[in-house]
Amino acid sequence: MKTLKSILTVTVASIALSAAAFALPPGKGGPELTTKDQFAELKAGDKVTLVCKMDDFRKEITIKDSKAAMALCEQDTKVHCDTCKKDYKVTWANPKSGPTTTMTIVDENGKPCMVYIKAS
Ligand SMILES: [Zn+2]
Repeated sequence: MKTLKSILTVTVASIALSAAAFALPPGKGGPELTTKDQFAELKAGDKVTLVCKMDDFRKEITIKDSKAAMALCEQDTKVHCDTCKKDYKVTWANPKSGPTTTMTIVDENGKPCMVYIKAS
């Protein structure tokens, strides 16, 4: 019985690992956009990918101009996931404390659900 249990544990662990790798394949896309500076650097024609961590929903967005880029990360902006059929909300950890503040997109319970990734 002991052996069977350890085989099962290993199997479950490797399934969990491959699921995580699938959600964010290494080398595909750039870093997560989490600071105002990163959004401020986006230029017209740049592409970002909106990724839902809950179901791997992806949507590519082409930046129209820097104003549109900043609008993506505005506090309380609603972000819709077509797969979850839910609206999530842009929130800043601490809006007034400068460049180290980070943006997350959270559900109604404050759990991070979606991220913007700089498309390469
Ligand atoms: Zn979703």
